[in-house]
Amino acid sequence: MATDLQIAARKIASTNPATGTTLHEFECTSEPEVQAAVARAHVAQGSWADLGLRKRIAILREFQRLLHQKKSEVAQLVTREAGKPYVEALLTEVLVVLDAARFLIDNAFRFLRDEPVPHGNLAMKTKSGRLLREPYGVIGIVSPWNYPFSIPATESIAALVAGNGVVLKPSEFTSLCAMELASLLHEAGVPKEIFQAIPGDGATGAALIESAKPRASIDKLIFTGSVATGKGIAQVAAARLLPVVLELGGKDPMLVLDDADIEIASSGAVWGAFVNAGQACLSVERCYVHRSLYQPFLEACVRKTRQLRVGNGMDPETDVGPMIHERQLLRVESQVEDARSRGAHVLVGGNRLPALGPNFYAPTVLADVTPAMRIMRDETFGPVLPIMPFDSDEEAIRLANQSEYGLAASVWTRNRAHGEAVARRIQAGTVMVNDVVSCFGISEAPHGGVKASGTGRSHGRLGLEEMVRTKYLDSDRLPGMEKVWWYGYGKAFARQMEAMIEMQFAPGWTQRLRGAVKAAGALKPKRRLSS
Ligand code: NAD
Repeated sequence: MATDLQIAARKIASTNPATGTTLHEFECTSEPEVQAAVARAHVAQGSWADLGLRKRIAILREFQRLLHQKKSEVAQLVTREAGKPYVEALLTEVLVVLDAARFLIDNAFRFLRDEPVPHGNLAMKTKSGRLLREPYGVIGIVSPWNYPFSIPATESIAALVAGNGVVLKPSEFTSLCAMELASLLHEAGVPKEIFQAIPGDGATGAALIESAKPRASIDKLIFTGSVATGKGIAQVAAARLLPVVLELGGKDPMLVLDDADIEIASSGAVWGAFVNAGQACLSVERCYVHRSLYQPFLEACVRKTRQLRVGNGMDPETDVGPMIHERQLLRVESQVEDARSRGAHVLVGGNRLPALGPNFYAPTVLADVTPAMRIMRDETFGPVLPIMPFDSDEEAIRLANQSEYGLAASVWTRNRAHGEAVARRIQAGTVMVNDVVSCFGISEAPHGGVKASGTGRSHGRLGLEEMVRTKYLDSDRLPGMEKVWWYGYGKAFARQMEAMIEMQFAPGWTQRLRGAVKAAGALKPKRRLSS
């Protein structure tokens, strides 16, 4: 076990993946510092909750205004630190967050206010029930590098508006984006103790989750990252009974049905596979095409892929930027090599582009792949589009579901009813018909997976619900009346209760009426316990 001094000495660096230049170095937040941050958030959280939803919404509106004002700066920072083309940073990082804020500003009050719970059971009609939504306290957020601004921002603003404090442990590769988020939130009026970004590596993340000291431990964790890390975290959280949302990896299938428009579907496949250099949890990771369209579809994908301009994301002409780091490149290379050695054909790409910089990989289209290949089973998380044919909808659905993952999927067809029928049979958190990836930008839509892709949801109403504990509050309208079901049991009482059940659930109306007459006796005074 490392000492605190050793932990404090660990360093991480933000690096521009297009050039290899170091942008900034950070010291990892040590375990005692992590605990102090959580403790500070606990102390401040009560006042933040007491501030009230309307005032928190006003602060969120100010955050939205500031982000809008600084949109270009934020997008450029994302491009420098994560590599994606500037326009992608604008759309998938800035716009997504502006719209998520819009969604919360418009809806948080409606979704978080007390909700009446009407009672159907006749015996309970004297009670008034309400569902209350209360903040958890302090929410820990651990986030990845691939959407370094929009993932932590959308999760944080939902947690904050609901009245929680937030401690964010960003990816060790993209701390600058998290610091920018903190600075915008603080400038908007979120107190410094209520939103804290703590730079660090996996050990810092572990310290955030593992603390067993009540005032230094988080009340809920929102984790976004790989399945491997998520599995370890799920075990630690289970031992502590810590509620978690796990937004994990995917191996999203794209199904091109026999009636699809080849031009549209191939453009969708190329964008869906190569956006963010394939490093999106919702990327097209495997593509199944009806055999009748297979050849023309392959040709269209190859033609379009050849036209993509790979380069530094700061160049406005760039379509595909670099990958984040060497480890990601090695992972892609090993999967492509595995596929090649088992008979797959690289139709375009399949190699690094060292002349452009350290982390560039050419957008790659693979044909003649099989379900046994790693490229069709393991998450690739790189710019590779493997395509294989199928003969029937049944086969396509079986192939799509033949995966440990279940994040999202897409179905492509000219017939929407046909597409929706197929979509219903796919095991995934989201299925899009005739589009891909963009569901992440629909603030109303819940985001999250099934199977190994995780549990719980972010975004939309369901994402907001993850940020609150529900409490059922029941208030009796007749406080001066002893309840009929309290003590005072006896033969007559048992008969009256039988009659009451008859009154409510007997199959015929005559029986119900008879039950009602007999049950009326239950309202009379019965044997009372003397005081
Ligand atoms: P990762 O699992 O390596 O790291 C994610 C975060 O967890 C980082 O902040 C990291 O420092 C932290 N971490 C690592 N070990 C930890 C530990 N033991 N305890 C606590 N925290 C720890 O993932 P990554 O490489 O940053 O991101 C890529 C992965 O994230 C891909 O698998 C991708 O599919 C997934 N992802 C999923 C979604 C989604 O919404 N489902 C979104 C984006 C990315």
